[in-house]
Amino acid sequence: MNKIRFNEFGLSKEMQKAIEDLGYEEATPIQTESIPLVLQGKDIIGQAQTGTGKTAAFGIPALELMPHEGKHVHTLVMCPTRELALQVAEEIAKLGKYKKYATLLPVYGGQPIERQITALKKGVRVVIGTPGRIMDHLDRGTLDISHIGMVVLDEADEMLNMGFRDDIEKILRSAPQQRQTVMFSATMPKPILDITRKYLKDPVHIRIEHEVLTVPKTEQTYFEVRGREKIDALTRLIDFHNLKLSMVFCNTKRGVDDLVEQLRARGYSVDGLHGDLSQGMREKVLGRFRKGTLEILAATDVAARGLDIDDVEAVFNYDMPQDEEAYVHRIGRTGRAGKEGKAFTFVSGGDFQKLKNLQRYINHKMKMGKVPSFGDIEEMKIQSLAKNIREAAKEKDAKKYIHMVENLLDDDITSLDVAAYLMREKFAFSVKAAAPAQEEEIKSGDGNTVTISINVGRKDRVKPGDLLGTVAGEANISGKLIGDITIQDRLSYLEVPSSLAEKIVRAVRGKKLKGKKLEVKTV
Ligand code: ADP
Ligand code: MG
Repeated sequence: MNKIRFNEFGLSKEMQKAIEDLGYEEATPIQTESIPLVLQGKDIIGQAQTGTGKTAAFGIPALELMPHEGKHVHTLVMCPTRELALQVAEEIAKLGKYKKYATLLPVYGGQPIERQITALKKGVRVVIGTPGRIMDHLDRGTLDISHIGMVVLDEADEMLNMGFRDDIEKILRSAPQQRQTVMFSATMPKPILDITRKYLKDPVHIRIEHEVLTVPKTEQTYFEVRGREKIDALTRLIDFHNLKLSMVFCNTKRGVDDLVEQLRARGYSVDGLHGDLSQGMREKVLGRFRKGTLEILAATDVAARGLDIDDVEAVFNYDMPQDEEAYVHRIGRTGRAGKEGKAFTFVSGGDFQKLKNLQRYINHKMKMGKVPSFGDIEEMKIQSLAKNIREAAKEKDAKKYIHMVENLLDDDITSLDVAAYLMREKFAFSVKAAAPAQEEEIKSGDGNTVTISINVGRKDRVKPGDLLGTVAGEANISGKLIGDITIQDRLSYLEVPSSLAEKIVRAVRGKKLKGKKLEVKTV
C-alpha cells in the first residue's frame, strides 16, 4: 500500500500547518485513499481497522470543503458513543485549529441539553454526536441540518449494534439530498449494505487490504504502560537488557523530538530521525548509529524506511504503530542473520483493540512483559559482574592481578576490603543513582503520583530537560522518578511521586530557571 505525504493532497495552508503541528508525517492508507475522493465530493464507504486514522480521513476533507462564510452546520458526524464523539471532536478541533470559522460542538446524552442548545443557537459548523442526541435536537427544532454539506457515519456497524438504526435513517432522511455522505464501518453486514444502498450516491468502497509479510522470529513482548510511564519503562528496559543498539519508533515527529529530549536529559546517548531533517543531518545521525557511538535511534516510520540498518539488538514500539504492516517493518530491523532480536511494544489506553488486531494479523501471540524494577536492574548488574569475574579468573593474566591484591594486604586491609573498594569505584555512579532512587521508589508507594505546576513554559524557552534537571537537581532525587512533563506557553506540569511532592515543592520554590524565579504548586 502506497502512502503519501500530506503536502501531496493540495490542502490549504491552514490545514497543512495544523497537520504539521500534530506531527503527522504521512497519511495512513485509509487517509491516502479517502481524502482525495472526499475532496472531489464523492460518497465513500471506508473499511479499515481501528487506530488507522479514520477521523482525519473524513475530518480533513470535511474542514477543507466547509465554506468560510455562513453560520449553518456544514458537517454532521454520528458516532456510537459519547467517548468516541469527544475523541472525534478533539481531533477535528486540532485539524481545524487555524480555521477560526470551523466551530464545533459535541452533543451526547448525559450532558444538560440546555447547554448544547445555547451553543447551537450561536451557530456551529461541525456537530459531532450520538444519533440519539442528534435526533433529540432535531425533534426539538434546536438543530437545523437543512444546509449541511456532509454527513459522516463513523463506526456505522457499531451504531447499528447499539440499536441506532432508526435514528440514523431518520437523520439521513431529514438531511438535504444534495449532501455528501461518508461512512466508515469495520464490517459490512447486510443492514449496513441496506443503508448504503438507500442513502449513499454511487459510493466508492475503500477497503484497506494488508500486504502479506513474513514476521521474523523475534521475541515479541508487550508492556501495559500508561502514556506518562512510557519513558520510565523504556529506560528501565534499556538498562536491564544492557542494550547498546536499539531503535525506538514513535508515530509523530513531535513524539521523536520529545523522546530524544527526555532521554538526553536522563543521560542516554540518543538522536532522532524524522522527515524534517536535512539529508546531511540524517547521514550524520545514521553514521553515528552505525558506528555505535549512538546507542539509541528514535525514528518515525517514514524516516526509517529504506534505511539499511537491520541488526539492532532491540526495537521498541514506543507508540503502537498505525497499521500492522508498519509493525512488521519496524520489528524486521532486529533479529537478523540468526541473531536474537527483541521487539518491545508499549500498549496504553486505547491500544488494546489494536493489539488484538495485530496479534491476529501476525498470527502470533505476544508475551506480556513486566517492566523491570530498580531492584531487578541491580540484581542483573551483579549477576553479569559475577559472570565476568568467573571468566576473568580463567584468563592467563589473572595471576598478575592476584599478586597486586596480595601486595595490598596487611593487618588492616583484607581482600574483602580491596574488593569492596573496587566495587565502589565501578558502581559509584549507578549505585549513587539507584540507591536513593530505590528508596524513594519504595517510599513513593506503588506509583501514586501528583502533578505539580511550575511557572515557566515554552515562552521562556524551557525544554523538558531543563525542568527535569532543575527538579531532580534541586530536590536531589533521581530524574527517573519524574513522570510526564507537559509544557504550555507559560506554565509546565510535572508528574511526581506523591510522597516526594512536598519535598520537591520546597526544594524548587524560589530557585531560578532561565532567569525566572520559580513558583511551584501541587495541582
Ligand atoms: P480510527 O478512527 O481509525 O480508530 P483515529 O482517527 O482515532 O483512528 O486515529 C488513531 C490515532 O492515530 C490518533 O491518535 C490520531 O491522532 C493518530 N493519527 C491519525 N492519523 C495519523 C497520521 N497520519 N500519522 C500519525 N498519527 C496519526
Ligand atoms: Mg474512529
